[in-house]
Amino acid sequence: RELAGRVVQALEVIRSTTSEHEEYFGRLDAVAGDGDHGQGMAYGSRGAAKSGRAAAEQGAGARTVLIHAGEAWAEEAGGTSGALWGAALTAAGGVFTDARGIDPAEVVRAIIAGIEAVLRIGGAQPGDKTMVDAALPFRDTLLAEFERSSDLAGSMKKAAGAAREAAQATAQITARRGRSRVLGEKSRGTPDPGAVSFAVLMDALGDFFG
Ligand code: ADP
Ligand code: MG
Ligand code: MG
Repeated sequence: RELAGRVVQALEVIRSTTSEHEEYFGRLDAVAGDGDHGQGMAYGSRGAAKSGRAAAEQGAGARTVLIHAGEAWAEEAGGTSGALWGAALTAAGGVFTDARGIDPAEVVRAIIAGIEAVLRIGGAQPGDKTMVDAALPFRDTLLAEFERSSDLAGSMKKAAGAAREAAQATAQITARRGRSRVLGEKSRGTPDPGAVSFAVLMDALGDFFG
């Protein structure tokens, strides 16, 4: 159950990092959205950490811990990003078996599966000014770096750097999707909240894996 314990710790890193940035995420969302991105992420990540920990305490492995955590995230957060983060965690859990120890290549596959779930369920295209604009460069950099180096922590940090740059670059785009679409032009000059929170959390996870 070594891996399940690490997953519970990773969920705790996501919860505490979100809590530190809650106000910032909310402020970004208030510019052209409804301002609830900080609150949604805080509720969701808190629910996920709690539910994941409870499952692990019952003896669950990484797969079950993440599936429960994802369901709790979607339920507690509400909102678009909550549904997507919840689906991502649940999809990532589907990659693991409950029995095995830690295999960095499997961790990479789980993270990629989470991102693929966001692409599939959200249906956003690059340039729509969503979380996808940070997640795609993150995925591509993570795959390329891990292939090259087999170093999980180093690859995560490089990929998070790419995500951060891409998230900041969304400031140049006018929103076309999600709730902020309604306010269109207003979002220009401000990065997409979901892209920024994604980059911040991947950076924290990179530190955690190191
Ligand atoms: P809501 O929009 O329901 O208030 P949040 O404020 O928590 O939910 O999340 C907003 C973020 O969700 C956006 O900044 C964007 O990154 C992300 N988002 C919205 N729609 C999509 C989508 N179709 N695919 C991926 N991400 C999306
Ligand atoms: Mg919102
Ligand atoms: Mg909302």
